[in-house]
Amino acid sequence: MTAEFRLRRTDHPTPQQQREEILADPGFGRHFTDHMVTVTWTPDVGWHDHQVTALAPFTLHPGAAVLHYAQEILEGLKAFRRADGSIWLFRPGLNARRFVASADRLVLPELDEETFVESVAALVRADEAWVPPYGGEQSLYLRPFMFASEAFLGVRPAQQVTYCVIACPAGSYFPNGVTGVTLWISTKYSRASIGGTGAAKCGGNYAASLAPQREALGHGCEQVLYLGGEQRRDIDESGTMNVFFVTRDQQLVTPSLGTILDGVTRDSVLALAAEHGLDPVQRSIGMDEIRDGLADGTVTEAFAAGTAAVITPIIGFKSEEFAAEVGDGTPGKYTRQFRTHLLDIQYGRAEDTHGWMHRVL
Ligand SMILES: *Cc1c(COP(=O)(O)O)cnc(C)c1O
Repeated sequence: MTAEFRLRRTDHPTPQQQREEILADPGFGRHFTDHMVTVTWTPDVGWHDHQVTALAPFTLHPGAAVLHYAQEILEGLKAFRRADGSIWLFRPGLNARRFVASADRLVLPELDEETFVESVAALVRADEAWVPPYGGEQSLYLRPFMFASEAFLGVRPAQQVTYCVIACPAGSYFPNGVTGVTLWISTKYSRASIGGTGAAKCGGNYAASLAPQREALGHGCEQVLYLGGEQRRDIDESGTMNVFFVTRDQQLVTPSLGTILDGVTRDSVLALAAEHGLDPVQRSIGMDEIRDGLADGTVTEAFAAGTAAVITPIIGFKSEEFAAEVGDGTPGKYTRQFRTHLLDIQYGRAEDTHGWMHRVL
């Protein structure tokens, strides 16, 4: 049964003028809305105290297990305002299901799908004024997360867990037009290993990504591309986005699930492939295959997919072993088509033939 969230509005909402100034240039992750969702779990009562309250700091015991052993998971999704003012979520059920799978991997309690979606919807309703206006690719970014809040230093699953949802207005990811990134293929670091936490969306994976990201920046690249597989010679993903390749013979190729994150955007791109005349293929992809394919022109486009940027064109790769441009070094045709198609579905400009959109207000 879906839990009800009790709303207690803040006594100190951000003044309208200040909010409008923020919404004029929200950036990403810098400004937070007025409310948050919290729910507490203990083994004897289960989930309880479902609330939407004023955004406020947590009081956390220094012994809280999350601070020591990183028993924590997260999600990320967006609310979009349409031209008619209505507000919609994109496939929130997939985030809910992935949250259950991540919780299982980190031995956190299961929050049922309906309650997850309702928690996000409840926060959007409370902070409706924070959903940016239509036009300009802005959205309200929602961050559900769950962590071990029990004060206990033994290593075992926590007996007190906090679930929370916060929200940030998000500006257009490419305010000056869609540009591409060059990926650093790290042979020094890996993101995930077989049997590890690669498929879980957990904070620990992000902590481990900071050193490889520093390495990438040091080589003049914007992001990392990780390798995986038994020999660490196969394409994995970029750490915040899944990767795709378009081939000359009209295939859309992406690594199979396993150690990579099962992205909502990835799943959506695969589902739309046929409408763009591409044959979707999920399989292991060797780094050497990509290097050769870029050199002989069989690989024509590359892009990354994730909620924050939707589709990011990849215009080059660099590693200790080689450097290569993708195509002519500008975003490819299919890359731009997928980006436009997804945004058009999200903002209600294209028909939602797959039933992906979920109306909140
Ligand atoms: C969240 C995430 C993605 C993208 O998933 P979406 O559901 O499309 O946003 C890709 N890789 C990693 C490691 C992630 O955490």
